[in-house]
Amino acid sequence: MLYIVPTPIGNLEDITLRALNVLKSVDLILAEDTRTSKKLLQHFEIDTPLKSFHAHNEHASVEPIVAQLLQGATYALVSDAGTPGISDPGFLLSRACMQNDIKIECLPGATAFVPALVASGLPCDKFHFEGFLPHKKGRQTRLQYLAGLPYTFVLYESPHRLLKCLGQLAEHCGADRMACVARELTKLHEEVKTDNLENLQTHFGTKKIKGEIVIVVEGANTKKPSQKY
Ligand code: SAM
Repeated sequence: MLYIVPTPIGNLEDITLRALNVLKSVDLILAEDTRTSKKLLQHFEIDTPLKSFHAHNEHASVEPIVAQLLQGATYALVSDAGTPGISDPGFLLSRACMQNDIKIECLPGATAFVPALVASGLPCDKFHFEGFLPHKKGRQTRLQYLAGLPYTFVLYESPHRLLKCLGQLAEHCGADRMACVARELTKLHEEVKTDNLENLQTHFGTKKIKGEIVIVVEGANTKKPSQKY
């Protein structure tokens, strides 16, 4: 059987008791970066063996892993932070397990987009998760598509591309569209700033932007947060 185990996105206290028990009890932990996961395991005094499972070897690794799981092994899959499969390796393995009738359990736990979405103050009853936009080819097409969505959408972005991305969102969605930049969630310098795209560009244009970032954008033609719902 395969356990998919979320790990903290910044605050070690966000690991769950169940995650710790699973990580202690499995035969092997498949990790996106064994060095990163080793630090987490050392902190919680877990000595389960680790094996590398990352985007570059995901295709080649799936078959031998499935063979071992079919023979009765129990593995856990972790990524560097958050939930595997969410803008991280995991999909190919969970699909292969599903196709081979291998039981999968995904533990609920840390992921960056849920706290960003919920803390943004933007409507979260319906939303679209986009993850990372393509850097070059296809970026404009995706932005055009996202701009027309009638519900909130969520992007992952790197700090050095934040301003460019906010500018492009303003071009496609209009500078008065409300959005939120959630930075360094669960960490010491956490910042969740909701404003229109123009004001967000001004706010983040005046300082060096560091850390990990989620952008949440209000859908097209929705009521403004200033209006009463
Ligand atoms: N699997 C992860 C999850 O469940 O959210 C996402 C992994 S993806 C490779 C990394 C991206 O997630 C970052 O570039 C950033 O956009 C977002 N992210 C991760 N941790 C974050 C944090 N503490 N605060 C804000 N965004 C974060």
